[in-house]
Formats: sequence, C-alpha cells, structure tokens
Amino acid sequence: MSNKENHGKIMIIGAGGVAAVAAHKCAQVPEVFKEILLASRTLSKCEAIQNDIRKRYGRDIQTAQVDADNVPELVSLIDRFQPDLVLNLALPYQDLHIMDACLAAGVHYVDTANYEPLDEAHFEYSWQWTYQERFKEKGIMAVLGSGFDPGVTNIFTAYASKHLFDEINYLDILDCNAGSHGHVFATNFNPEINIREVTQVVRHWEDGKWVETPAIIDEGSIHFTFDYPVAGAKESYLLYHEELESLVLNIKGLKRARFWMTFSENYLTHLKVLQNVGMTRIDAVNYEGHAVVPIKFLKALLPEPASLGTSYTGKTVIGNIMTGKKDGKTITRYIYNVCDHAEAFKETGTQAIAYTTGVPAMIGAMMVLTGAWQGTGVYNIEQLDPDAFMEALNTHGLPWQVVEHAPLPDKA
Ligand code: NDP
Repeated sequence: MSNKENHGKIMIIGAGGVAAVAAHKCAQVPEVFKEILLASRTLSKCEAIQNDIRKRYGRDIQTAQVDADNVPELVSLIDRFQPDLVLNLALPYQDLHIMDACLAAGVHYVDTANYEPLDEAHFEYSWQWTYQERFKEKGIMAVLGSGFDPGVTNIFTAYASKHLFDEINYLDILDCNAGSHGHVFATNFNPEINIREVTQVVRHWEDGKWVETPAIIDEGSIHFTFDYPVAGAKESYLLYHEELESLVLNIKGLKRARFWMTFSENYLTHLKVLQNVGMTRIDAVNYEGHAVVPIKFLKALLPEPASLGTSYTGKTVIGNIMTGKKDGKTITRYIYNVCDHAEAFKETGTQAIAYTTGVPAMIGAMMVLTGAWQGTGVYNIEQLDPDAFMEALNTHGLPWQVVEHAPLPDKA
C-alpha cells in the first residue's frame, strides 16, 4: 500500500508526439489532473503544446526546460513543482535517471518503454527491476510500460486471464498500422528507438525458452498474412517486443508468446538499404573531423513523428489473440482496439501511434493518482488490476472489443 497522499499534480517529461497526447488527455480530466507541468529538453516544444491546450480547453498548464539525464537538475525541478507522479515520456535512455530522481524526491513513476543503454541496441527490464527494493522502502510505486504495446496489450492479457480464461496457453500480439502518412519513408515514433528495435534479431517464447529467428529484413524472417478487422489482410512479421519479457513471467501457463507487426514492402526495402550502407549504426564515425553517429544523423533527416499527423489517414488495429482453457474447454478470444489517424489528429494534433501510446500513459498515471492502483515497488502493468484501466480505455478514446476467433496456426 502506498503511504503517499495525492494532490493531483503530474509532471510529464518529454515533448514529442506521445507527450503531446498525454498532456492533452490529462488536460481533459481536470478532476484527476489538477496541475500539470510539461518539462523537456526543448522549451519551445513544451510551449507549443501548452498553447494548443490553452486554445482547445482554455486550460493553463505549466512548462519548464530540463535535462532529464541530469539527476540533480531533475530533483530540483521536482522539489519546486512537488508533483505526486512523474510520467516519463522522454526516451528509454532517460528511464534510470528519471527513476533515480523519483526515488530521491519520493514521487511515483510511470513510463511507456523499458531502459535501453545509449551505446548498445538492447532493451530489457532487468535494469529497472533492480529498483524494486528501493521503491518499496521509499513507499512509492513505479509502473513500467503504460503505452499500447507494451501497456494495453499487457492489460488485455491480464483482463483475459482474470475474466475470460482459467489458463492462457498461447498468446499472439498483433500490431497493425494500416495508415498512410504520405511520406516515402518515416517512422511513427522516435526514429532512433524505432529502428534500433526493428533491426534486432527476433525472439519469441516457446516451451519455456526463447527461440531466435532472423531479423525482419533478413533472409528467413517469419511472416504471414493476417486478416485484420477493418484494415483487411496485411503481411505481419514476427518481431521481438518488450512486453513478452514480463508477460511470460507473470502470466502462468503460457506455452508460447509471440509478437507480430505489419510492415510494407516499401518500408522494409528502405530499412534494408539504410542498414546495408551503415546508416543505422549507433557508434560514432569520423566525418571530416567530426564524430557523427549515423542513426542520429538519419533521425535529423527523417520527418518528426509528431509532424506526421497532418496528412495521416487510415487506422491502427492492435490486439491479442489468446488460446487457452475455460471450464475444461479450449477457447480462443481476440481483444483489440481500432484507432483512426485522422480522428486522433483532430482531437490532439498527433497521429494514432502517438495517440495509442499517450492515452494509456495518461490512464496509467490516473490509476495511480486516483488510488485505483496502490502499492510500493516496481510493477509491470499486467501485475496490477486491469478492470479500471479497461473501463478507462473505453471512456478516453481507445474502445476495445472481445470476439471469438480461430486459433493462430503454430507455424503462422
Ligand atoms: P520523441 O522523440 O518524439 O520525443 C521524445 C521527447 O523527449 C523529445 O521532446 C525530446 O526532446 C525529449 N528528450 C529526449 N532526451 C531528453 C533529455 N535528456 N531531457 C529531457 N527531454 C528529453 O519520441 P516519441 O514521443 O515518439 O516517444 C516517446 C516515448 O514513447 C519513447 O520512449 C518511445 O519509446 C515510447 N513509445 C512507446 C510506445 C508503446 O506503445 N509503449 C509506442 C511508441 C513510443 P527534444 O524535443 O529536445 O528532442
């Protein structure tokens, strides 16, 4: 049980697409989020979001400039604003620094992506899980992975486990972006993080161990055509995604867990060329006496994900297909959400990928601030009760459905 009394004060770190959506959504719920501070590296980006929120809802939020890698600077900002919770929507590189600052200041922590070191394209929860005892001792809560995937997909699994199944044996998470942004090549969230993720060797969980298969752009990558609701048939690629790591530990009875994401031929061709010529490298190369990190330079050339919304049309369809036992019978259920890029843009000025991440980030923070989730220590989101979160998805812009479905084939 958390020993802190909340006053409805949230500090959001970051001012990209995801933070913009979360700030909008928090501003729409003044009864929970009484005061909002948006702090990031570039103050002008915070101010642009502040102005948009003022125009749309007549509500004033506060802004500040902060380097989230500078823990003392962060602690002093937290001490000045006195938030109950810090919502980390900067980049995975900042996770540990922001957790350190939350520990020092004694405030709750929520994020949407697990820690990744800057110099190694490798993400896992181990670094953040080591904060368990320290968060417990301080009497505060860290909620990890409150975006869509990870986030809503974990909550869908926890909900299915609680209400639909006695035991889930097979889990397939399917992430489809059937939208079109009109650019030849762009990434839907931070290009550096996105490209580091999708160029990795793929892993899925089967019979108690991780099975490795080729990266999505390599020979032998595993893919199949899935007929998505609303979006139709799309080629879906087996990909390693971070929620698998915690779900296989927390959902008992899982025999297999896989993650699939849709990619177009065009996207894969561009990615392959960029990879082949070295533009996705994360180490510095010497160019005319300057140290240049190719992937960072590439990020500077690509469109800002937050800017994609102006021309984005189409939908995202993300959800879980789960097969398992209920009352002695084998059943399969599909829980999913459909989100429309243009509608997301109309409401928050940002496309559906940022929207589907920013809304659950706000809901995770709301669960902690309202006391729907209480506890001390570090939690992956499926360890918390899913009911109030599922209800909030329906009322805050990400309605979901549960339908019967055929099981996915073993070799999809
Ligand atoms: P952006 O790159 O658009 O935004 C990141 C923001 O963080 C920028 O405003 C950036 O500042 C700021 N920032 C970076 N470093 C620092 C620092 N040291 N101090 C202060 N601010 C900093 O990313 P997105 O909005 O696309 O993504 C945000 C997060 O959401 C990422 O961690 C991403 O992995 C995660 N995500 C999670 C998803 C999920 O479903 N769980 C899906 C999509 C994204 P500046 O403006 O100066 O660059």
